[in-house]
Amino acid sequence: MADIVEANQEKCSKCGLCCKTILIGLKGLDPEDVKYWGTLGHIVGDMCIVGLRCKQLKLDRCEVYEERPLKCRNFEVDGKACKLLRHVSGYDEGVQP
Ligand code: SF4
Ligand code: SF4
Repeated sequence: MADIVEANQEKCSKCGLCCKTILIGLKGLDPEDVKYWGTLGHIVGDMCIVGLRCKQLKLDRCEVYEERPLKCRNFEVDGKACKLLRHVSGYDEGVQP
């Protein structure tokens, strides 16, 4: 278990994509809204990835890590959204975000 936590920390410390983007679910949205989101970010399937750096991210470290919001705590390393961000950004192919 400790090994998994360590491996995840290592992976996240080299990535940080989920602190530099927001994911917008497009399912059920009006086509005009989908078009609008497409002008702001990258549409992948029924998601739109928009670049937006969190204000708490300083020098690629979370300044409020111990008190970070629940959304951040619950963001699953290697979960669907994590994999999507890494795939689209090229992180998994060695591109640094
Ligand atoms: S996108 Fe995934 S690997 Fe990257 S920092 Fe977030 S949880 Fe970690
Ligand atoms: S609060 Fe911290 S963990 Fe959450 S998005 Fe901002 S920098 Fe990332």
